[in-house]
Amino acid sequence: MKTVLKNGRVLDPSQDLDFVGSVVLEDAQIVEIGEEVDASGADSVMDCSGLWIAPGLVDMHTHLREPGEEHRETIRTGTQAAAAGGFTNVCCMPNTSPPLDNPALVDFILDRSASPDAGGIFVAPVGALTVGQKGQQLSDLAALRKAGVVAASDEGGPIQDAHVMMRAMEYCLQLDLPIMAHCDDRSLSQHGSMNEGAMSAMLGVPGIPRTAEEVMVMRNCLLSLNTGCRVHILRVSTWGAVEMVRQAKYLGAPVTCEICPHHFTLTEDAVDEFDVRFKTTPPLRTKVDVEILLQALSDGTIDCIASDHSPYAPHEVNVPFDEAPFGMVGLESTVGATLRLTHNGVLSPLETVRKLSTAPAEILRLDAGTLKANATPVAQITVIDPNLEWTFDVNRTFSKGKNSPFDGTTFRGKAVLTYCGGEVYRDPLFDDARSHIALA
Ligand SMILES: [Zn+2]
Repeated sequence: MKTVLKNGRVLDPSQDLDFVGSVVLEDAQIVEIGEEVDASGADSVMDCSGLWIAPGLVDMHTHLREPGEEHRETIRTGTQAAAAGGFTNVCCMPNTSPPLDNPALVDFILDRSASPDAGGIFVAPVGALTVGQKGQQLSDLAALRKAGVVAASDEGGPIQDAHVMMRAMEYCLQLDLPIMAHCDDRSLSQHGSMNEGAMSAMLGVPGIPRTAEEVMVMRNCLLSLNTGCRVHILRVSTWGAVEMVRQAKYLGAPVTCEICPHHFTLTEDAVDEFDVRFKTTPPLRTKVDVEILLQALSDGTIDCIASDHSPYAPHEVNVPFDEAPFGMVGLESTVGATLRLTHNGVLSPLETVRKLSTAPAEILRLDAGTLKANATPVAQITVIDPNLEWTFDVNRTFSKGKNSPFDGTTFRGKAVLTYCGGEVYRDPLFDDARSHIALA
């Protein structure tokens, strides 16, 4: 079976390629890319004029909720949502019930995600740093690594004790396993529900000071610098946090960081009607934060964009603001929200693809994020229509979670075709006339 994706804008940050040309697939592998390719004998040719042909997108921060929280999401619905959002790889976070702190659970996730009724994409599990995610006793990280985790994390319940975190880093350094760190000093954030500032004072909602995040970012950066352990800071939200990361990188610490679309798109002002769709951790910050975060994305201090897809069941979010859980869905809106940055000139098309694919793949050393021939187990490609206007409607998504701040938002730009060893998603808005069987 030979397939040709023809006349698209080929964007491959792994090779610094940006040209109009074609990609040739044979038996689920990329065999050739170029301005002129050998399309003879193709079984199928797809006209991609005006579209981007990118390496499959990689989301290094997803909550699939299984095992134990299937009322929120399952591996099946989560991977289907990911494929529809353009992702061919997702990393699932360990704060499930029970937490992902032993190899049997890693096996379960790998098995379940490979089953035919799942989304057809790759799932890379992230192991729990501590047993039961209690922040005290380190998990058997060697066994978790052997079972297939690509990182270890305290996501959901950050380790408060600096000594435990230091030991975790020393252990992970030996295993060459990166730590994905959730940065929240609970003695500062306490029972807050939104950013602490003028808005929280006006609404009378307990605030979360920016220092709750920044103190922990600084601690983790210093521990990384001193231990040499690779640390990836999950979803930065304040200008102070990115300045810490910038300094840590300058000093030579092996630190990387990510940002989520809601943190570069929205501010605390969105909370004004106590709308729980805007409740997240770390909380939405201020206009000044967003401006500085965008600069940091553009200059490379922020390495990549991740969804932090956090689905909840309707009954869990239909509650007063103070009682609502933190988090929002993101897999199916991340590309639309990110393409705004491309249209606004914050990121070039090549940099946009780097933040969504090649950079996260490199940070976690996944076999992904490239269009090089035969470089990955199977071809992973995302075709994006950068100019397609569409309205995000949570009632038409694959995810079980409907808690999105972007419900009803019109975006310009969408993943229209996701290929992961075979077509795993084709958008109904994708023009069928583009695809035809070649007349050999
Ligand atoms: Zn998360």
